[in-house]
Amino acid sequence: MGNGKKTLKPVENRRRFIKSTGMLIGTTALAGRGIKSSAIFADSKTPLPQQLKKEQSKIIDIHVHTCLSRHPLITRPNGTHYPTPEVLIEMMNSANIDKAVVLSTLSPECRYTLVTPEETLGICKQYPDRLIPFCNVDPRYLTNSTKADFIPLLSAYKELGCKGIGEYVPNIPLDDPLNINLFKQVEQIGLPLTFHLAPQIGGFYGCYDDPGLPRLEKVLKLFPKLIFLAHSQVFWAEIGPLNNPDDRKGYPMGQIKKEGRIIELMRNNANLHGDLSAGSGYNAISRDPEFGYRFMEEFQDRLYFGTDIANVPQDLPIVPYFRKLKEQRLISEEVYEKITWKNASKLLFE
Ligand SMILES: [Zn+2]
Repeated sequence: MGNGKKTLKPVENRRRFIKSTGMLIGTTALAGRGIKSSAIFADSKTPLPQQLKKEQSKIIDIHVHTCLSRHPLITRPNGTHYPTPEVLIEMMNSANIDKAVVLSTLSPECRYTLVTPEETLGICKQYPDRLIPFCNVDPRYLTNSTKADFIPLLSAYKELGCKGIGEYVPNIPLDDPLNINLFKQVEQIGLPLTFHLAPQIGGFYGCYDDPGLPRLEKVLKLFPKLIFLAHSQVFWAEIGPLNNPDDRKGYPMGQIKKEGRIIELMRNNANLHGDLSAGSGYNAISRDPEFGYRFMEEFQDRLYFGTDIANVPQDLPIVPYFRKLKEQRLISEEVYEKITWKNASKLLFE
């Protein structure tokens, strides 16, 4: 990891990426269809939903990270870092991902560099057919008070083309008055919010919630029109009952014998949607495959395919998993299409 210490040309980078991940399947699949991935959405003047209707099975990734090239020492403590936009596009090509939501990241918790909405918008402008910008704010912005007026900022970012807010990660309680103040205004602006949950205050990024996610339930009820795109280990661990508190910090394995808290929360709150990205989302739907198929069937209108690309290289197990779901007809064609792109298309462009 951390091979960004040398600047590689995109082609070299791509070769290195493919070699290191063995991810040739996406490229082969594209070659087999006789299309270059970069040509899929070449006509940027046609609005996205119409383009998508022309060709089926276009994968939209709800959650990726990228930033412009940084000084080689600007990395996480372990030397890893986000891909540059060029490398991200190569990774998306290899994984057969047509479009991706680029998240902005600016709360300082566990961060090695800030990715402002302005940087995200600039990057997405370079790849208008491939990348979709999300803006972000921190609830301590402006006045560090529960009365801060975020409407001008949020309206500006919406006008500039941002389709959502996130990744939202301040390490304060999810129902902290600062969050409540911001969520009220996000609901008013009408953008979805991608958020990360943390198991404790300190040493983690993400908003804090307790086991059983009572604070999440509280904000879901307070802001019924705000679409919460839930993500992270703390959220997805509760697809089944928690066996011990440490389940929240990782990837609990094995059969799900009883429905967990998020099933109840999703049934009772139409504004709770699931971002399947990262090891956490993938683990939740694959640890007990039969349970996962039923889960995807029941919540087919509120789940989104995602990878959480944030490293170079990066293993993306959800990519071959969804290919298998489709090829072996483990979920219906309709459910596959909704989760891999139709839901995202509807959420972001309708
Ligand atoms: Zn992320």
